[in-house]
Amino acid sequence: MKKIVEKANILIESLPYIKKFYGKTFVIKYGGAAMVDEKLKDAFAQDIVLLNFIGIRPVIVHGGGPKINSIMKQMGKTPEFLHGQRVTDEETIDIVEMVLGGLINKQIVSLINSHGGKAIGLSGKDGNLIEARKKVIKKVSPETGVPEIIDIGMVGEVAKVNPKILSSVERDSFIPVIAPISAGKKNETLNINADYVAGEVAAALKAEKLVLLTDTEGILDGKDKLISTLDEKKMKSLKAKKIIKGGMIPKTQACHTALEAGVKKTHIIDGRVPHALLLEIFTEEGIGTEIIK
Ligand code: ADP
Ligand code: MG
Repeated sequence: MKKIVEKANILIESLPYIKKFYGKTFVIKYGGAAMVDEKLKDAFAQDIVLLNFIGIRPVIVHGGGPKINSIMKQMGKTPEFLHGQRVTDEETIDIVEMVLGGLINKQIVSLINSHGGKAIGLSGKDGNLIEARKKVIKKVSPETGVPEIIDIGMVGEVAKVNPKILSSVERDSFIPVIAPISAGKKNETLNINADYVAGEVAAALKAEKLVLLTDTEGILDGKDKLISTLDEKKMKSLKAKKIIKGGMIPKTQACHTALEAGVKKTHIIDGRVPHALLLEIFTEEGIGTEIIK
């Protein structure tokens, strides 16, 4: 009997959050171990379906790096990176679009559907959701001090988000699952970092929350200790000290974009923890790093 009453208490604890978040949009960047490990995949899908049934509107943006690499190798191509970005030639972008927009996107859609949700896969091209432009990397040459433009190929950045397609999809309780690919000005296909897409989509939707799942506890300080709460000022200083670097840069940038547009809270959480999403949303202490304005 005691055990059953405890269960009731757990449910009641979530009541204030359910009330607060009813009808609100959460943008979730899905990637890392949570997208690979079978148990974590199921736990993630259950979380999404639960959120949806209690009246929260999840919007998922997914990555897919490791899968693109393995399929490229199967096709006899060697993945190449420059300044942390994939060098994407014409042949590679076809593979990226097939893997991200086809294979991975549909796997996530059917995973959610198998747990009773109604997911719908989109890329940035669908409904003109994302207008993209080709990204150029400018780097000052250490020898000459002259800025150089580095061409990394068919890599894009978000120019504009047109969220209308999302509201029409959500009106009928479908859960949008977005692949980070879109078309540029000349109708060329461009691959965009999924963290940036998530940040821009959260900004355009004025979402309640942006949550980025990754394979670390959250943002770690110089002594590898988790930082629970971070404001933008502190974040800037950690970037300047190069304590925040590499793959964490697009994530913090995405949080910044979202916060500037009025998103209330942004979170970088550990996707290796089963039900990380629920723990973040429905507990007082939350998990991972919360970044606020
Ligand atoms: P994802 O696949 O989720 O996008 P990334 O590898 O691109 O993951 O980015 C997360 C990585 O960022 C971490 O695994 C870590 O190596 C790196 N990183 C850089 N700075 C930090 C920091 N201060 N705290 C935690 N991780 C950091
Ligand atoms: Mg990354």
